[in-house]
Amino acid sequence: MNANRLHLLPMASSHRGALSPACTQCAEGRKMVLFVTGLCRFRCFYCPVSPARNQLDVVYANERRVRSDADVLDEARAIGASGTGITGGDPLGVVDRVEHYVRLLKHEFGADHDIHLYTHEPNPEKLARLARAGLDEFRLHIPHYLWGPLTSDGGAYRSVLETAPDWGIRRGVEVPVLPEKEAELRRLLLTLDAIGVDFVNLNELEFSETNETKMREHHYRVDPRNGWGVRGSRAVAERLVRELSLSVPVHYCSSRFKDGVQLRQRLRRRADRTAPAFARRTEDGTVVLGVVEAEVGEELDRWSARVVRRLGAGPGDYRVDEARRRVEVSPLALRRVARRLPWAAFEVEVYPTADALEVERAPLNAVARTKAGLALGGE
Ligand code: SF4
Repeated sequence: MNANRLHLLPMASSHRGALSPACTQCAEGRKMVLFVTGLCRFRCFYCPVSPARNQLDVVYANERRVRSDADVLDEARAIGASGTGITGGDPLGVVDRVEHYVRLLKHEFGADHDIHLYTHEPNPEKLARLARAGLDEFRLHIPHYLWGPLTSDGGAYRSVLETAPDWGIRRGVEVPVLPEKEAELRRLLLTLDAIGVDFVNLNELEFSETNETKMREHHYRVDPRNGWGVRGSRAVAERLVRELSLSVPVHYCSSRFKDGVQLRQRLRRRADRTAPAFARRTEDGTVVLGVVEAEVGEELDRWSARVVRRLGAGPGDYRVDEARRRVEVSPLALRRVARRLPWAAFEVEVYPTADALEVERAPLNAVARTKAGLALGGE
């Protein structure tokens, strides 16, 4: 069998040669995303980091804001993670913190817990140090103005990639596909093939809330058939994966694959482990709940006990969410009685994430419709 034959993946992704084990875990939703800082000195115009994190020194494990090591470990357990991807910002800007997390995760989950890291900084001392701490892989983000043979100013990137085998870890390159840079990217791939890196990942360039203005200044347009992908990025990536005959494995990861496969799989795994048995799960990995909401000023303990009695719910049939001041039950059970309740009852669809982001809500009784109307009118 030809190891370098073309493999087609869902959502227009594809690869030639073996995928990095980190990518396989990611596609299966088994990789926790550990965002170690929003700080980054590189300021790429296409940077997609969200406004809530961009250039802020904050830590998140998936969607969970991290305030202690326990938050990181709890989140890894919540998705049954078999690995972690460390990202930012630029993680090497907080190398002590990264080393701490690498050691923490390896100590807690064992040497098999696969850890990879993205960085823009070609710093051999820091990477060698992290390799000694247990890091399994790094992915170097090479700035687009250096794509090509990696000589002169690109020398530092080349040197890190050539030295990395001494540290005993996988070394790859991951870059967004800028559609007008096809020739430079072609030359970069030939150079990386000659160096013999372990893999190259090509990401579809995409619009985000943060980068939209700058992307438009660069005359990029959204490809309407392709999520938030930039017009032309996918076509260039596909040509490179299909046409170049290289020894180095090359993987094109589409914008839709990240949402439609990676994220969805991770949500499903989290829902399996954390959603209450009475909740309904959807194919997309979201969770549907029936909720009864307390009025302002209501004393939560006494009020929730009354709601539970009125619903006839037994242990395991409900959950009290103190932060959101509500009782959660089966959406089906709530639909049957909602009209007769004196409190606002809704059916809500949420992500099974630490922040329980709400996707949709539908009122189930008149009190809820009035409340929803007031909320809309108040906007
Ligand atoms: S290196 Fe990454 S985090 Fe930093 S500005 Fe560029 S895209 Fe954003």
